[in-house]
Amino acid sequence: MSKFFTTQDKKRIVAAITDAELRTSGEIRLHVESYCPSSSLDRAVFVFNQLKMYKTRERNSVLIYLATESRKFTILGDTGINAVVPEGFWDSVREIMRQAFVSGLFTEGICAAVREIGGKLAHYFPYDKNDVDELSNEISFGE
Ligand code: CA
Ligand code: CA
Repeated sequence: MSKFFTTQDKKRIVAAITDAELRTSGEIRLHVESYCPSSSLDRAVFVFNQLKMYKTRERNSVLIYLATESRKFTILGDTGINAVVPEGFWDSVREIMRQAFVSGLFTEGICAAVREIGGKLAHYFPYDKNDVDELSNEISFGE
């Protein structure tokens, strides 16, 4: 599955996540796999827990989930961020991704989503000088 993206693509995505996290205490992760065995939301919740993404002090992590062959994706925020983002925000991020994905621009769509989510996280959870990288910025690949 890790071959879905080129080395350059992966670098760009990780750089976008790293960049976003320079401005917020929040955490963003991307999980990519071929097939989604259930609804994308159910699967994202499963992956979120598997990656222990609830282990942030402010419960402000966001998972971008993508199943390439199943053509499904979703964005899942933890309780801390979900409690504060405006209604419709996640839908707007989904739409950014959808528009890029229909043109086959996966890396671009993900990087744009990361920037959008990062901006929102920075607004509600600004960077703190004592911030630690609570969750890896590396892409997580399933089968
Ligand atoms: Ca952090
Ligand atoms: Ca991180």
